[in-house]
Amino acid sequence: MEELKDTFGRTHDYLRISLLERCNLRCTYCMPEEGVQLRDKSEFMTQEELLHITKLFVSMGIKKIRLTGGEPLIKKNFSSIIQELSALPVELTLTTNAVLLDRFITDLKAANVQKLNISLDSLNEARFNAISRRKDFKKIMANINLAVKEGFDVKLNVVLMKGVNDAEIIDFIQLSKNQKINIRFIEFMPFNGNEWDWSTTVSYQSIMAQVNQHFGEENLVTETAKPNSTSKNFRIKGYQGDFGIISTITNPFCDTCNRIRLTADGRIKNCLFSATETDLLSALRKGEEIAPLIRQNILKKQEKRAGIDSFESEAGKEIFSQNRSMTTIGG
Ligand code: SAM
Ligand code: SF4
Repeated sequence: MEELKDTFGRTHDYLRISLLERCNLRCTYCMPEEGVQLRDKSEFMTQEELLHITKLFVSMGIKKIRLTGGEPLIKKNFSSIIQELSALPVELTLTTNAVLLDRFITDLKAANVQKLNISLDSLNEARFNAISRRKDFKKIMANINLAVKEGFDVKLNVVLMKGVNDAEIIDFIQLSKNQKINIRFIEFMPFNGNEWDWSTTVSYQSIMAQVNQHFGEENLVTETAKPNSTSKNFRIKGYQGDFGIISTITNPFCDTCNRIRLTADGRIKNCLFSATETDLLSALRKGEEIAPLIRQNILKKQEKRAGIDSFESEAGKEIFSQNRSMTTIGG
């Protein structure tokens, strides 16, 4: 089948699948304290439906799949899902909070998953537990070390929030000194209900100012950007690992976007910020063709951040306030 090209010439070959909306953590920037509203099981894709839709995407040129959520590792049939997906001709990856990672090392290896994105917002136990509203810091740190030891290519996702964890930027980069680990600083993004405002965003410029002041500009090596990369990457001279900055707010990377998202309830989103979704699951259950729906959705993709020019304008606020929370999109 023909590849998924939008009206701006961008080919979409990367599918992010949210396996579920629920999570075992309650990160303040992502989830309400009480968790997401529980919905009837019938509203979500079954394993068969998930596989059917995914295979169709692969026939339309998807080459990379990331499983996310909510927390993908609390999905009951995770092992079976990953085993089935591993038969597809794609690169399979996972984003996880790592609380349960030790239980799935064997399954992940068997499915040939080589890259893991792990979220960790503080290296300070009390702060991490406060951000995630749970007490799993020690377990997560042990599992991150285990993942590195087991040979996975580990990226650590750090959502920076001013006055919360931005004093830890240098400490995080130091983690890349003796380990081949990639630290990715992510600008805090606005979603429905997460109380974002400009004052909480730690910008690309302020991160680089701290880095240059601490390490000295002469010790910073800029790495060549990979195609479709969302981060600008740097290495401190002599360090084994590196770090990157994902600046969706202050410096978006929409020009090379190749991503499409499938939510756990079977809807597709052509942009993280888009409130406009296409319901593939209902169409599939009615026996309708879903390939044309996928194409139409991609053709409606806007050039930049779902048309949000400014996050402060009323028009911008209107768009992102209609969007789902991150945990129901699948970051
Ligand atoms: N539970 C898994 C985890 O935390 O890695 C996967 C799902 S989580 C929604 C995926 C990613 O989205 C995480 O790295 C998280 O830090 C990021 N995220 C969630 N809310 C965000 C926000 N408001 N701004 C920026 N990143 C966010
Ligand atoms: Fe859960 Fe991940 Fe959201 Fe934290 S960021 S609440 S771990 S889904």
